[in-house]
Amino acid sequence: MSPTLSSPLRDVVGGKTAKAFETGLDLRTAGDLLRHYPRRYAERGVLTPLSDLREDEYVTVQAEIAKVDTRSMRNRRGTLVEVVVTDGNAQLRLTFFNQSWRASQLRPGQRGLFAGKVGSFNGRRQLTNPQTQLLEDDSDVEESMLTGLLPVYPATAAMPSWKVAKAIRIALDVVDIADDPLPDGLRDRRGLLPLREALRLVHQPDTFDEVKRAQLRLKWDEAFVLQVVLAQSRAAIAAQPATPREPKPGGLLDEFDRTLPFVLTDGQQQVSAQILDDLARTHPMHRLLQGEVGSGKTVVALRAMLAVVDSGGQAALLAPTEVLAQQHFRTLRHLLGPLAQAGELGGADVATRVALLTGSQGAKARRENLLDAASGAAGIVVGTHALLQEHVQFADLGLVVVDEQHRFGVEQRDALRAKGSAPPHVLVMTATPIPRTVAMTVYGDLETSELKELPLGRAPIETTVVALVDHPHWIERVWARIGEEVAAGRQAYVVCPRIDADAAEEDTDDETANAAAAVSEVAPMLAAGPLSAVRVEQLHGRMPADAKDDVMRRFTAGDVDVLVATTVIEVGVDVPNATVMVVLDADRFGVSQLHQLRGRIGRGSHAGLCLLVTTAAADTPARERVDGVAATLDGFALARLDLEQRREGDVLGASQSGARSSLRLLRLLRDEDVIADARVEATDLVAADPSLDEHPALADAVRELVDTDRAEYLEKA
Ligand code: ADP
Ligand code: MG
Repeated sequence: MSPTLSSPLRDVVGGKTAKAFETGLDLRTAGDLLRHYPRRYAERGVLTPLSDLREDEYVTVQAEIAKVDTRSMRNRRGTLVEVVVTDGNAQLRLTFFNQSWRASQLRPGQRGLFAGKVGSFNGRRQLTNPQTQLLEDDSDVEESMLTGLLPVYPATAAMPSWKVAKAIRIALDVVDIADDPLPDGLRDRRGLLPLREALRLVHQPDTFDEVKRAQLRLKWDEAFVLQVVLAQSRAAIAAQPATPREPKPGGLLDEFDRTLPFVLTDGQQQVSAQILDDLARTHPMHRLLQGEVGSGKTVVALRAMLAVVDSGGQAALLAPTEVLAQQHFRTLRHLLGPLAQAGELGGADVATRVALLTGSQGAKARRENLLDAASGAAGIVVGTHALLQEHVQFADLGLVVVDEQHRFGVEQRDALRAKGSAPPHVLVMTATPIPRTVAMTVYGDLETSELKELPLGRAPIETTVVALVDHPHWIERVWARIGEEVAAGRQAYVVCPRIDADAAEEDTDDETANAAAAVSEVAPMLAAGPLSAVRVEQLHGRMPADAKDDVMRRFTAGDVDVLVATTVIEVGVDVPNATVMVVLDADRFGVSQLHQLRGRIGRGSHAGLCLLVTTAAADTPARERVDGVAATLDGFALARLDLEQRREGDVLGASQSGARSSLRLLRLLRDEDVIADARVEATDLVAADPSLDEHPALADAVRELVDTDRAEYLEKA
């Protein structure tokens, strides 16, 4: 019986080579080897530009031998063969110790592949004892290397590219690749190659066109299998029972709408209607609400929560930070007014209570809030991670709202879901715009809604890059500008990358932050000098919770003019009177972070001004990030810029390494079409054949992705 894709590699290439593949490249099965795709392709005879080589990299270069010298070594016994190869311009030296036979093997004018680690000697780059493969028509040469394109594999010391190519040739000859995870109909519809052909062409192409067709097909494998898993998970959720939740006529929601001081935007109305629709169903809602910073997601979430409370259930609102939980608590109480004052003087008839649960609460307050949650007296329970703890109980949890999802893992979402007797409905909100395909992949188990427009009457935000390399004295102008705004009755934020001048801290993930501005230095400096006339306070993650809350409360009330803070204010903080945002060392922050920070201003009717202060020189990547943020307010455009600057793995996150390691060719941005099409196909297929009984090869591929604990997160979803 011939080996299959899941056979151990030793059955294909023998034990010794298999061992080398396992230790060197972590390849264990025939499938692993065949999915070890070339990093690039070299055209035969087109020499590798040698001036591009970087030190310490393992490289495989195609070059022509220019010179061969044999010498005896000066300090030791033995010979040294020095070969100079060239790409026609630059040169590279190859040094062979005690391999005198190389002098007769390698002759000027010959072309070959040379693989090794780039080192340097006397300031010149060289490969020491490189592996070599001449590209001449002699019996020693792999036949596949004489025709078509040369595949270049990610190389390691033990495994030069052509040895990988040779093992793959054997695998292509002997492995049975008849089973294709992509159904025939799908391949026909999408014009995709069969698996066997795609694998052959990706490794042994004659033309770049063949490479492209092979890669397209193999990208489909990656996208489709993942989307099938996600579609199954959506289908499983849709099959669960849930308690339908409908607002009562004349109940909380009606009363709330009647007293709301503004008109909902069209988008808010549409999304709200969609959510109320979902909540009325007998299966759990599982929805992602994306909306620009300031687009008014909170009101939408609150309306959903009120519908649930109307029906006798409870809603939990989970926030990523203490500051944000406190603020949500205050905002909800404020928006609800008498509707949140059940049992209090002046409370409305239909009123409920809002409870708050955070880690730093005093024992007494905590006990009362826990009781309100457990008894059902609180229709709405707001909290941080503290909500997830085991002893937190609900009388009847009907809806879980997760704000700013990007700070939460799937496990945490699940822990909260598990607190309902029947699976609760789930609404996930994020203000970080996510490119469509990332949403489809990372949040692929959720239905998505978007709030695109901002409420009317929002003043525009102007963003300016203050480049101190060119104009160091502009920093004075920055402080003066804050002074002017405060004099006009407005407030300002000054954001620093760090808390202290010395220690590294949890508020920033930048370990190179040595010289960056620190809250504990900037605040006193401003108070003593340029802003001595105004009220300056600090806010950062190491302050005690009640101190943070106190500062935030006073800033919200207008009793603090300038808040010098770390990124603790990044998400959700809502003070419409704040109009200036100064970000010091803005290049230390990521694109999304800067966009989030900027979202803290321009929330009222006064024009916002965002000053991104940087010492980064023009034309550096750091500066490009800052300039990119200044150039647009479009969160989706910025999300793309962010993604372009990072790698897929970072986007998918550490807990999602299953999906990450399954993506070899697929790129979330470049391959949008493939991902979107694969999602459509996957949804259709799972609807017709939920357990994949009629698609055994696909079922195998799905199992392989899900079974590995690397993909644990997908199972949980
Ligand atoms: P985000 O989507 O960033 O969470 P919020 O829900 O905090 O936005 O809303 C931002 C601000 O806009 C809040 O002060 C909120 O009360 C206000 N707001 C929300 N919807 C509207 C609307 N339709 N018209 C006017 N203001 C609104
Ligand atoms: Mg918000």
